[in-house]
Amino acid sequence: MSAHEDTIRAASEVIAELGASIFARGLTPGRTGNLSCRIEDEIVVTPTGVSLGSLDPCRLAIIDLAGRPVRGGKPSKEAVMHAALYRARPAARGVVHLHSTHAVAVSCLADIDGRSALPPLTAYFVMRVGRLPLVPYFAPGDPALSVAVEETAREHHAMLLANHGSIVVAEDLLSAADAAEEIEETARLWLLLREQRTRPLADAQLTALAERRQA
Ligand SMILES: [Zn+2]
Repeated sequence: MSAHEDTIRAASEVIAELGASIFARGLTPGRTGNLSCRIEDEIVVTPTGVSLGSLDPCRLAIIDLAGRPVRGGKPSKEAVMHAALYRARPAARGVVHLHSTHAVAVSCLADIDGRSALPPLTAYFVMRVGRLPLVPYFAPGDPALSVAVEETAREHHAMLLANHGSIVVAEDLLSAADAAEEIEETARLWLLLREQRTRPLADAQLTALAERRQA
């Protein structure tokens, strides 16, 4: 087996393990959600019609950066979004897309700010997610959704898809999962707090966090 195949095999194991953990914790229901890793110019992505809770690492799909199937299982129709994110951020190596309940709930709110769907309630949200834009609604698999996601990803590594869920691209799969979980937790907090006055982090506190990240 080539070194490339070894790396794909190792990434597939990580995807299956993370998928089981995400599913067990109720972070994406049924057969929703998809995970991927980029290995050189190939993307290992979860196949269509399989729950993240029962992934077989030997049966994941491999696609190219244009989103075309290369070998392995049949990719999810959402896999083209993953390819779009890797094209927008060439250094990225992991993508997590979840239909987690509270993030989906926020993505359905009528009065949401499209530039920033969730306020900076906690330092971890600011550090792992930053500003979270809302991508307008398109049907899953619609090529226009991939175009919108690719454009948004040039400036933001995490986004909320209207009436759909969250998607995050990061330097590795586990960092993408951390950010997707942070979006879900912050969405849950925000829904708990929405009827009350909140005190999000102030501009000076946000600037101090940004300076610490660069230090
Ligand atoms: Zn989806």
